[in-house]
Amino acid sequence: ESLINRIAAGEIIHRPASALKELIENSLDAHATSIRITIKDGGMKLLQIQDNGCGIRKSDLPILAERFTTSKLSTFTDLSHIRTYGFRGEALASISHVAHLSVVTKTKLETCAWKACYSEGILVEPKPGQNADPKPCAGNDGTTITIEDLFYNTPTRLSALRSASEEYSRILDVITKYAIHNSKVAFVCKKAGSPSPDLSSPSASETSNTIRLLYGHSVAKELVLVKVSSKDQSTEDTDMDVDETTDDPESWNAEAYISNANYQAKKMVFLLFINHRLVESSRMKRAFEAVYNGILPKGSSPFIYLSLEIDPRSVDVNVHPTKREVHFLNEDSIVEKISDAFQKALTVQSH
Ligand code: ADP
Ligand code: MG
Repeated sequence: ESLINRIAAGEIIHRPASALKELIENSLDAHATSIRITIKDGGMKLLQIQDNGCGIRKSDLPILAERFTTSKLSTFTDLSHIRTYGFRGEALASISHVAHLSVVTKTKLETCAWKACYSEGILVEPKPGQNADPKPCAGNDGTTITIEDLFYNTPTRLSALRSASEEYSRILDVITKYAIHNSKVAFVCKKAGSPSPDLSSPSASETSNTIRLLYGHSVAKELVLVKVSSKDQSTEDTDMDVDETTDDPESWNAEAYISNANYQAKKMVFLLFINHRLVESSRMKRAFEAVYNGILPKGSSPFIYLSLEIDPRSVDVNVHPTKREVHFLNEDSIVEKISDAFQKALTVQSH
């Protein structure tokens, strides 16, 4: 049983960066405005994330790391992220099968914080001789999740990892992308014991400023904002705001920052968020790369940050939700419309 659970967990959590991605999404679901990350050994030894979000009620702690269950679904009453991401409830469960997981959390209503430790989906005693119940402790409003010794019990996963520095750069890459998509949220990432952060993105920033900060000035200098949606009849007026409350399942809304000259990177930089989840689409990547053909200055690469909102019902449910490669309804026509808008913006820009 536990071996099967471990293997299943390894399908969801591939490496430190994929664990962190899930934790960042949880913090954002909890409406955190500050997310601080601490890393040891590329996240293999320690991966810690501290947020100032809504916290977890003490009564929810016993089932926090349980796999998707109806009890979990009815207990966790904030269902807003179910609409956005689709309910999964697997991340913390999976992590508890392949690492030492502990949580310190405090809601506004609680007078102290509570600490809980998990293994294989259930609460375990923090120290030998103690019981497994959550323990009161000091702590601010919000949640700190600590993952230690990732894959200590799954040697195949562990041996598939690269060096600590390679894993760390993947971690920084994930944080960078979420920081850009959530430019109002402060992100800090540092190595344990290091006095200065390796990544620091202030709160309440504008998207273009965050891009400039994290990807370098030479990208941002050339940035153009492109807005396009299913409502745009002609390519003339791409600026209008779309009523997001519409219930038309075919309606969609895209916002992008693109640059025609990214001198910082040798390869195309493509950040894609669909319904606020970081995903990948090789179909889109190819199409957008084609748009740039022939218009790139020498020694530069395309930079594209695209946020696409579509009806969750139109995202392909046959694709496992943790696979980052996505497909969705009317993909061809949506990609074509966005490509056209990019083409137009880049042509205007280069004149
Ligand atoms: P899911 O996010 O799909 O529900 P997870 O295993 O990632 O599944 O998280 C389980 C639940 O734990 C979440 O639904 C949320 O209620 C709670 N939770 C996890 N992390 C946090 C956090 N940082 N702040 C507040 N609640 C959290
Ligand atoms: Mg989650």
